[in-house]
Amino acid sequence: MRAHMTFSGRKAAGAVAIAAAAGVLSACGSGGGSSASAAPPSPAPTLAGASSTSPSQGSLAGKVIVIDPGHNGGNASHPAIINKKVNVINAMKPCNSTGTATNDDYAEHAFTWDVANRLAKILRAKGAKVILTRKNDKGVGPCVDERAKIANRAHADASLAIHGDGAPASGHGFHIIEPAVIKGHNEKIVPESRKLGLDIRNAFHEGTGIPYSTYLGKKGLDIRSDLGGLNVATVPAVFIEAGNMRNAGDAAKMKSPAGRERMAQALAQGFVKFLT
Ligand SMILES: [Zn+2]
Repeated sequence: MRAHMTFSGRKAAGAVAIAAAAGVLSACGSGGGSSASAAPPSPAPTLAGASSTSPSQGSLAGKVIVIDPGHNGGNASHPAIINKKVNVINAMKPCNSTGTATNDDYAEHAFTWDVANRLAKILRAKGAKVILTRKNDKGVGPCVDERAKIANRAHADASLAIHGDGAPASGHGFHIIEPAVIKGHNEKIVPESRKLGLDIRNAFHEGTGIPYSTYLGKKGLDIRSDLGGLNVATVPAVFIEAGNMRNAGDAAKMKSPAGRERMAQALAQGFVKFLT
């Protein structure tokens, strides 16, 4: 998302013009113009190989997991709301952003919503209590600080924000974003978040075969101090940029229901590793 901000200016003048006209600051890619073509999430398929144990006996029984599907379908048409500044501990930042999209307009918010719901279904079948930070893919927000606070208030054992990146088309692969230390605020959760990030990175890499990002981070891991969703967290929290939506190969995987199911299954394995 740092990359998004850097490259959006020279990537797609048209999209940037739309975003600028709408007053929208996009954290994930060039953003803007994607709301009209947002595809609804596909229904999650029947779970193959799901455990036959009841949820109360599942391996994640008693665990609380918060999943944050990045952005929201109504953000692009509500710039005044999502550009309002919120406190992210070390800065004031826009409430939210539109997110990016593939070149043929499969929107990031639709991608994150679909993967989050697939993941929630898998985790619930394993006995976890799963909370999503938004109720549908048509609303506005919530703001980035509120997304973190939802996990904090739930005393989540782990939380994950799901995003798709909007980097230059030549780059591909996924990366995890872990919290930097924000002195006096999140020291306690940084070590656990690093472990969560490693477990999810390993599981995602192994389960999907998607390589580590070729354009950002180190071995699929990045650390940032500018994300409200991480700065405000008082429970273990990481982000995943599951692929580069502007790259043709990554976009094909992200647009495919089977690809998204593989991602969800892999992410679930990461939570199992971290929480058991
Ligand atoms: Zn995003």
